[in-house]
Amino acid sequence: MSHYEKAWQAAHLRIADAAQAAGRDRNSVKLLAVSKTFPPEAVRSVYALGQRAFGENYVQEAIEKQRALAGLRDIEWHLIGPLQSNKARLAAEAFDWVETIDRLKIAERLSAARPSDRAPLNVLIQVNASVEPTKSGAPPADTLALARDVHRLPRLTLRGIMGIPEATDDVGRQRQQFGILRDCFDACWAAGLPVDTLSMGMSADVEAAIAEGATEVRLGTAIFGPREKSKD
Ligand SMILES: *Cc1c(COP(=O)(O)O)cnc(C)c1O
Repeated sequence: MSHYEKAWQAAHLRIADAAQAAGRDRNSVKLLAVSKTFPPEAVRSVYALGQRAFGENYVQEAIEKQRALAGLRDIEWHLIGPLQSNKARLAAEAFDWVETIDRLKIAERLSAARPSDRAPLNVLIQVNASVEPTKSGAPPADTLALARDVHRLPRLTLRGIMGIPEATDDVGRQRQQFGILRDCFDACWAAGLPVDTLSMGMSADVEAAIAEGATEVRLGTAIFGPREKSKD
């Protein structure tokens, strides 16, 4: 078994165990493989195992990888890093999902730039569930209004909520922050928005995220190994 095969299977086992512990169906949690900083060959290896959804943080890096991997069928690219307005056009062309919508303006730009021969771009509202003012994401109190506005944009499909809580080893604190994200998701659902995706949980806190209702977990280190510090 290759390194990737072992790691990928272990990741699936972790998800299955966490789902079972939470009394949830294993198939209700999707695995996003976060391939940022890793070369196209690493993506190709994990794709060969059956993985289809990959997460990237930088638009330019993703585009270069996509060029190198042209021809991999059904591959699904998610942007999970912050998006600047001047990169919106490139992102609208290069990705299947953008998970980091934190203001209406960027959503409007993505909608306007989404090519007409592609399906509408799937998007998530990024919510800031930590109290740190510097973290990106919309404040929880603004989420529903933003979600409603995004839902109206013609070339986007609002799918749900994404968040990156502050890192902590305190499981209670992890769950509290994930709970805030889940409340935002539930509020969208209760308001009649057709959301189906709650993207939260990374290599260090996937169990707490699944306990709080994550439908997508984003695993980088757990699949590809440690990244070089400088590029994270
Ligand atoms: C890098 C990154 C991940 C993956 O983090 P790991 O700890 O390596 O699993 C997940 N989500 C986002 C938004 C990231 O930037």
